[in-house]
Amino acid sequence: MTKRIFRSICFAALGVFFASVLLFTGVLYHYFSGEQRNQLRMQTQLAARAVSREGMGYLNELDADEAVRITWIGADGEVLFDSRSDSEEMENHLEREEIREALASGFGESSRYSVTLMERALYCAQRLEDGTVLRMSVSQSTPLTLIFGMAQPICIIFALAAILSFALASRLSRQIVAPLNRLNLDEPLENEGYDELSPLLRRIDLQKRQIARQSEELLQKQKEFEAVTENMAEGILLLNAKGFVLSINPAARRLLAQDGTSVGQHLLSVNRSLQLSELLEQMEKGRHGEKVLELKERWYQLDISPVFSEGEVSGAVLLVLDVTEKEKAEQMRREFTANVSHELKTPLHTISGCAELLENGMVKKEDLPRFYAQIQTEAQRMIHLVEDIIRLSHLDEGAAEMKRENVELYALAKGVVEALSAQAETAKVEVKLKGEVVVVWGVSQLLQSILYNLCENAIKYNCKGGSVTVTVGERQGQAMLCVADTGIGIPPEHQDRIFERFYRVDKSRSKKVGGTGLGLSIVKHAARLHDAKIELKSEPGKGTEITVLFPEMGR
Ligand code: ADP
Repeated sequence: MTKRIFRSICFAALGVFFASVLLFTGVLYHYFSGEQRNQLRMQTQLAARAVSREGMGYLNELDADEAVRITWIGADGEVLFDSRSDSEEMENHLEREEIREALASGFGESSRYSVTLMERALYCAQRLEDGTVLRMSVSQSTPLTLIFGMAQPICIIFALAAILSFALASRLSRQIVAPLNRLNLDEPLENEGYDELSPLLRRIDLQKRQIARQSEELLQKQKEFEAVTENMAEGILLLNAKGFVLSINPAARRLLAQDGTSVGQHLLSVNRSLQLSELLEQMEKGRHGEKVLELKERWYQLDISPVFSEGEVSGAVLLVLDVTEKEKAEQMRREFTANVSHELKTPLHTISGCAELLENGMVKKEDLPRFYAQIQTEAQRMIHLVEDIIRLSHLDEGAAEMKRENVELYALAKGVVEALSAQAETAKVEVKLKGEVVVVWGVSQLLQSILYNLCENAIKYNCKGGSVTVTVGERQGQAMLCVADTGIGIPPEHQDRIFERFYRVDKSRSKKVGGTGLGLSIVKHAARLHDAKIELKSEPGKGTEITVLFPEMGR
């Protein structure tokens, strides 16, 4: 801006200078022309008087180099004398304007371009008493010659004017711009300077306040949005149309962004997974997309919904939902179905094989009881398995709604011990019941399942002559049920997994003792429905102790 003002002032000053020179020259030219004419008139009158008196003698005395040219013309127009040219060679002057005028009125005047002298000339003619005419002429400079004549001083003045205008322009432009440079736009109305700037400053102040209000509103909205999304367990990301992250809540940052930085980055640089890249493609096409992403042994459902503005995709909302439990349940169900089919297939094959042999009469008479027993065992195994499966699916489905009541654990344990006494006798295991009366608020049927399965396992995985101790009591204000045996124990690496469905430490032993692999899963499930905690202590070769602690005592 300073440069522009500087240039404008310089151009204006020099323009004014040139215009002044031209106007001044015109005025001077006009003035000097008038002066020249007056002088020529006067000189013509004086010379006319002299020629009237002295005749040719006066003219011959004149210096031919004088600035004024004198011509004496006869009454017939013939040139009698000329101070510059040879009078005899000159044409008749009767038709010259000034001569005609002088002959007619006594005095004539004209100005024209003289072909003879190749310049503009001013003529004054005076008629003498004898009828002849004396004419004087002087060359008149044109405005251009005047300017050329003054070229040197003009150039010097121009140089001085240019230097002066540069200096003034530079100073002025800086002075003009200085108040603008000093403007404090943070406080627009506090500025003093040009009045012309007031509307602009008022406008800036208004817009500043508007922007402040709008950004406050935006900040407020952002805070509200953050407050809502911050405590969400689900991850939520806002993306722009190019897939760059505009906003990310802590849950999404925890799940997707490993190093924490994410806002302003492209989604794929936050997390480079195939699913996200496919979802971005869907978004670009303006379609809703869903994918499941596996991260650190957890599953997340990714839902992308494009946001449209004026028919174009302007961004998207990406939701990240933790579906690990759902996925695991799904997986468990798949595994469970496969396991059930497998578990059922083996006894069915055995029964079918035996029945076939019996049908074809291929079994010796003495072997018949063994075959019948085999069929009986396998059928029994299947019955147990199906019973366990029904119990489990019952637990899975709606055991929460089962009727709860005060259940006396000691009496329940006593009943279970009695029911298993025959099995214990066969296995040559002694079962002891200790403890006191404890009442638990729960589902009697489930509590019985817990006791039954634990005691049955303690007998099944025991050694001949071993013992099982069932203790019912209270520990730190909680009802306690403990089943300890002196059996084979469980190796540490299996201890975490024995509560899984169909998990067995020694499959053949489990099968031999009629195990289904579901007993402890039923225990775990039933305990969970009572908010009970299971503790396991076991040492291979020494025995196992499983304790169940019920937080909710009888009401
Ligand atoms: P199963 O029907 O095979 O007994 P469970 O779910 O009841 O199935 O038990 C799972 C596995 O845990 C058993 O196969 C067995 O290997 C082990 N187990 C359970 N209880 C005991 C115990 N008291 N002593 C030793 N091993 C045990």
